[in-house]
Amino acid sequence: MRESRQLGLAVFAPEGRMPRLVPPSELLRGDGNAKTRLLEEFYHSIKDCQKCPLGATRTHFVFGVGDADAELVFVGEAPGYDEDMQGEPFVGKAGQLLTRIIAAMGLSRRDVYICNVLKCRPPENRNPHPDEVALCSPYLHRQLEIIAPKVVVGLGKFGCETLLGRTVAITRERGRWQQYRGIPVMPTYHPSYLLRNPDAKREVWEDMKEVMRRLGIKSRQFDPGRE
Ligand code: SF4
Repeated sequence: MRESRQLGLAVFAPEGRMPRLVPPSELLRGDGNAKTRLLEEFYHSIKDCQKCPLGATRTHFVFGVGDADAELVFVGEAPGYDEDMQGEPFVGKAGQLLTRIIAAMGLSRRDVYICNVLKCRPPENRNPHPDEVALCSPYLHRQLEIIAPKVVVGLGKFGCETLLGRTVAITRERGRWQQYRGIPVMPTYHPSYLLRNPDAKREVWEDMKEVMRRLGIKSRQFDPGRE
């Protein structure tokens, strides 16, 4: 059941079936059941991946969590210790902060989709290596193709660089709309950076207000000092 919730899935399909490659034009908003089925099939096709060395050291493959038909997707860097142990992205301290930010937007984790560039934890939470990103990022691209959100939030340098396909200076570029395959991308700080630099929460909240405006979500009072 937990695995089902992580995928935003209602029912699992038989294992071993390869995902049907569906062009984005077929994946319409509101077609949640089809997207759920496609994500489910995709998950089963890659969950035993050993393409890079991180596959041998992971505890759990961390696919993603949330609504397969989400309008808003958050893309982080890679699983950390807690995520590797639980098989779910953003569940440690940084993840709890992200959950509070999502709640401050008037949403829950079930309303959005949350995933990472890498699906397996790098040892000691080191930065992802370029070859690992190159091997793993097609999985992220396929997830986004299936979900077809209205807005993507890039959390931190690695998430943003993978989405935008170029080097990103996050302190300079956060808060400025970018494009990912026709989808607006809002680059912002990673929640783990906010744990080390609490003053930056105010900037992230400004970025999230931009996202809310774009999605037509009404703002509510938020105290960055408390979150
Ligand atoms: S990090 Fe990605 S490419 Fe490497 S083993 Fe895990 S799923 Fe496969």
